[in-house]
Amino acid sequence: MIAELSAALTALKETTGLVKVINDAKNDAEIKAATFELNCKLIDLQSECFALGDVIRSRDEEVIHLKAKIAEYENFQTQVEGYVLNQLGSGAFVYSKQELVQGTEVTMHLCPLCYSKKIKSILHPFPVSKSSVYFQSRCLHCENKFLMDRNPAFTAPPTMAEIGRLLND
Ligand SMILES: [Zn+2]
Repeated sequence: MIAELSAALTALKETTGLVKVINDAKNDAEIKAATFELNCKLIDLQSECFALGDVIRSRDEEVIHLKAKIAEYENFQTQVEGYVLNQLGSGAFVYSKQELVQGTEVTMHLCPLCYSKKIKSILHPFPVSKSSVYFQSRCLHCENKFLMDRNPAFTAPPTMAEIGRLLND
């Protein structure tokens, strides 16, 4: 039970007890003393009710905050529906899904860092040269760059042995 509610109920019970004391009083002095104590207990009771009100308001604010968090989570879950954890040729982990873009099915990748923060951010590829082993993408939200799948146009530079053989030919 909420401590403030328990305190309010105790104060209420004590107040009710004092009413019985007043009813059973045999003279004015006893009535006066019990009435004085009753007034004190009513002030205590009022104070406990205010404290209880504060607790209820605080809980209401917490409920509103939690409902907003749940709505945010549900909204994110709807946005990323169908995306699954995927490991690319470079070894990087991203969330991927086949999506239709202008009638063509393409694999969309989501930034794993933003995903962990409940933000859907598509990784945007940018051009790489033939000297790049992997394609690269960038998250427009957190600016992180990712090595993606292997670049088929990649041509490895000749080794020293190959250069030596070319020179001797
Ligand atoms: Zn990101």
